[in-house]
Amino acid sequence: MPAFAKSPWVIHYDASSCNGCDIETLACLTPLYDAERLGVVNTGNPKHADIFLVTGAVNAQSGDVIRNIYHQLPEPKVVVAVGACAASGGIFRECYNIHGGVDTVVPVDVYVGGCAARPEAIIDGIVRAVQILEVKHKATQAAARGIDKLVYEPALAGDIPEILALQKVTYRSEAEIYGDDSLPAMQQTLAEIEADLAQWTFLKASINGKIVGSIRGRIEGATGYIRRCIVHPYFRGRGIARRLITEMERSFPPQVVRFETLTGHKSRRNLAMCEKLGYRVFKTEEYLPTVQWVHLQKERK
Ligand code: SF4
Repeated sequence: MPAFAKSPWVIHYDASSCNGCDIETLACLTPLYDAERLGVVNTGNPKHADIFLVTGAVNAQSGDVIRNIYHQLPEPKVVVAVGACAASGGIFRECYNIHGGVDTVVPVDVYVGGCAARPEAIIDGIVRAVQILEVKHKATQAAARGIDKLVYEPALAGDIPEILALQKVTYRSEAEIYGDDSLPAMQQTLAEIEADLAQWTFLKASINGKIVGSIRGRIEGATGYIRRCIVHPYFRGRGIARRLITEMERSFPPQVVRFETLTGHKSRRNLAMCEKLGYRVFKTEEYLPTVQWVHLQKERK
């Protein structure tokens, strides 16, 4: 399989299958088919996965779970619908509680036919998924090179799932700095970030329609609070974070005469960038056992 540049990490979710396709999926890992010999790794953590493999049709309960898992996978990612049920609802299509195939809730890249899908077909589907992953990976890298085409504008409610996925990718490096995977930004759910829309204004930086950076701000009295400036790892070191902060400062009305932001005490790059933009530390406080908040402020000029 020459398309394999790295081991594909796969997360499997049973949406409501009869278990036929699940058994065949697990058979891929048995010594007879031994997908691991090809480098395929079965993971239970969506944040570690490249490929999202779904069996069974979508019903009222599984639709939200599929969306939730999908948005936690880092970009680029590929979705594989395994079996007739995952493709269209299959033999359960007419059931009162079935909404249809996986593509009724998230975009599907590869359809594996069969009822049940054979292990050979599932492995073939993963090989196709890896090839698509490579194409998406190259497209992301190409977009990173076309940095001058970046657009900075307010984010809409429909952008929030993409911003959440970006946030989870972005905060991985912070989690490594602090040795703590439980950072609230990593754990935030779609419902929580959608609720944030009521209090915060979001800006996004996008290129060719893909969001690569985001920031949020809100006003209290004469102070504009700026939080969660995030930039996709491929796009770092290109001034996008600085521009996002500047755009957010500009978006505040004239009665805002002071800006305030914060970052973790070990996030040296963030601290250095804020200081370059004129922010100065005015207090620190304990946030988590592993993280202290460093609060920075700046007067409007
Ligand atoms: S496609 Fe067939 S084997 Fe697979 S989950 Fe549906 S009914 Fe079961």
